[in-house]
Amino acid sequence: MNFTGKVAVVTGGARGIGKAISKRLSDLGADVAILGRNVEAAQAFAAELSAGGRRAKGYACDISDAKQVDAAIEEVVKDFGKIDVLVNNAGITQDGLLMRMSDEAWSKVLETNLTGVFRAIRAVARPMLKARSGAIVNIGSVVGLIGNAGQANYCAAKAGLIGLTQSAAREFGPRGVRVNAVAPGLIETDMTANLSDDQKKGLTGNLPLGRAGKPEDVAGVVAFLAGDDAAYITGQVLAVDGGMVM
Ligand code: NAP
Repeated sequence: MNFTGKVAVVTGGARGIGKAISKRLSDLGADVAILGRNVEAAQAFAAELSAGGRRAKGYACDISDAKQVDAAIEEVVKDFGKIDVLVNNAGITQDGLLMRMSDEAWSKVLETNLTGVFRAIRAVARPMLKARSGAIVNIGSVVGLIGNAGQANYCAAKAGLIGLTQSAAREFGPRGVRVNAVAPGLIETDMTANLSDDQKKGLTGNLPLGRAGKPEDVAGVVAFLAGDDAAYITGQVLAVDGGMVM
């Protein structure tokens, strides 16, 4: 895999899975634009990557804000000249039982995890379709395939992401742009840090691979789908879950 000369945008790219993706793409030669709400963290991580010899820059972007998404993508194109890869990684949880879930908790998660991805794809569509090349990788979740008690909002967003991925793949394929998704299982990040050891054991104990995943486990698969080795793959959802769903 070689991303030399390519420009990648990673939303939520300074923390957790997104950080591992930014690092992997940078290690493979890409220039990386890191988008996040926390612009200081995005810029600090970009400086770290730049010290390794690649171009990298952090941008302020709350993915749930349409104007910020358009502005950040426009700025990336101005700074780097093009966008070859978009990784829609930014995401949140706001868990609760469905019968007690507030409209706010529902909307916030849908707005960030699904509408934000739609807006980011819409924003990169013009430069990518014009260039007749590009790869988009959306970070879904296994719970978007099978549901999860206490996560109706999150599961609905991640299930919606699959339809969005497939529709974009069908629209953009004829113009040389591929769109795929990965569906991680339990990955050790801030998002899952408040699960107790017992809960983690319960989730991973019966897994064929018998352990939780690491952000790097996801990053390698994202790099594969974003790169030329996956040139004939589009509209797919690849589970990265230690065998949880099969
Ligand atoms: P995390 O450690 O909590 O990191 C979340 C990332 O999303 C942060 O970089 C955060 O950036 C960014 N983010 C959240 N809201 C944002 C917004 N409104 N605008 C821009 N950036 C925003 O979570 P993670 O585990 O790495 O999750 C990354 C992705 O993987 C998510 O889509 C998540 O749903 C998915 N996933 C995770 C797991 C897991 O087990 N960890 C499993 C399946 C799927 P700032 O803090 O800078 O805003």
